[in-house]
Amino acid sequence: MHGPRHLPKCPYCGHPVHEWRRGSPIEGCRQCRRPMVLLRYPLPWRSPLRLLGLFDLASKLQAYATITIGALFALGALSLLGLVKAIAILLYVMGSILLVDGALGIVSGIDRTWSQVRYGTAAKAMAAGKIIAGSLAFLLTIVGVLI
Ligand SMILES: [Zn+2]
Repeated sequence: MHGPRHLPKCPYCGHPVHEWRRGSPIEGCRQCRRPMVLLRYPLPWRSPLRLLGLFDLASKLQAYATITIGALFALGALSLLGLVKAIAILLYVMGSILLVDGALGIVSGIDRTWSQVRYGTAAKAMAAGKIIAGSLAFLLTIVGVLI
């Protein structure tokens, strides 16, 4: 019916998405294996924006949470200890994303960092860096929880 040009693209690597299980909210890209979320509303059905990367979504939510926590602390609604604990939780979320993204980067040989997609050895080097960064975030989470 439609050529590959009309197919929705993976928000992570840009590869056309050929299949989508009916009723499924999340699917993995065949090429880069990253999970993506299907948005039906309010975007038009044919809009290329109807697919959203799960990691992009999580990073965005995390950014909003960081701003909210910063504002709460600035307003005096959060104690310093509360701030440390909240940051520890955010680091845990960030570490999880980095670890999964890094692991999938090593498996698939595709990595995207700061909207630049890399393949092969370069992608695996970035992915390894993400795994190291994710592990550091987990270490800091443990420190933050123990304070
Ligand atoms: Zn992809």
